[in-house]
Amino acid sequence: MAGPATAGSVREALAGATDALRAAGIEEARFDAEVLLEHATEWGREKLAAEPDARVPAAEGRRFAEMVRRRVRREPVAYIVGVKWFRNIELAVDHRVLIPRPETEMLVELALELRPDRALDVGTGCGAIALAIADELPRCEVVATDTSPGALEVARVNAERLGLAARVRFLEASVPEGEEFDLVVGNLPYVAEPDWASLQPEVTEWEPREALLAGRDGLDVIRDLLPGCVCCLRRDAKGEANGDGVLALEVGEGQAAKVAEMMREAGLAEVDTRADLSGIPRIVIGRRGAPA
Ligand code: GLN
Repeated sequence: MAGPATAGSVREALAGATDALRAAGIEEARFDAEVLLEHATEWGREKLAAEPDARVPAAEGRRFAEMVRRRVRREPVAYIVGVKWFRNIELAVDHRVLIPRPETEMLVELALELRPDRALDVGTGCGAIALAIADELPRCEVVATDTSPGALEVARVNAERLGLAARVRFLEASVPEGEEFDLVVGNLPYVAEPDWASLQPEVTEWEPREALLAGRDGLDVIRDLLPGCVCCLRRDAKGEANGDGVLALEVGEGQAAKVAEMMREAGLAEVDTRADLSGIPRIVIGRRGAPA
């Protein structure tokens, strides 16, 4: 018997793979099958859509079958194909880094509004936020930190691939010392331990735990790093309107009010939250207040 995704036509390959993925409990089975076949054949969506009767060559068919087998085990598509789009850049990703999520693009949108001269991305992972800011704000000097050497390796490769290596400085640290920034952003780990079991297997079985889990309430990492983040916010010396540095953190559902309170306690002013497309308060923003 042929496996679910062995050769045949594009139509047959997609039908077989969709069935196999659906049986594995994957909701977007058809879509995932299309993305995997696109990568296995390197044919592009248009050709796959326009030529359902085209024969999938044997080597490509085998590659596709292997990709489908991995997806059946609930490995995320992004790890299987090795890349993920974020804003206008394609990032290499593997099991050492969290796969960038669309809601995290909100932090880049904020950077575009604020137009910082110097920006810091705390816990950069694959480099998504830092590299997107460097890509979209060509005059901004960007620093990115991570405590995971594996993640920094991925981020540096991405910087090279994107031609942004000269514009982004990566540091193995939680927060850099003795530096000042107009904007500090971070998508730090924020999953609460009791919520772990309810997450998709794509997350719990494949993504790096240290990029996700943050203690009982999911706020341990933010709590730890908040003072350091506040310290490296620029203090306005010239009395300019909006001259003080801004901190913006992504948070999980139900965490925004608590993080806003933590920011106020840490001395930040104008603390505000912004909701994502699902209406969930997703980023918490605060400005360094005038010194007391
Ligand atoms: N958004 C991720 C998830 O839903 C969590 C990211 C994080 O912990 N920073 O799994």
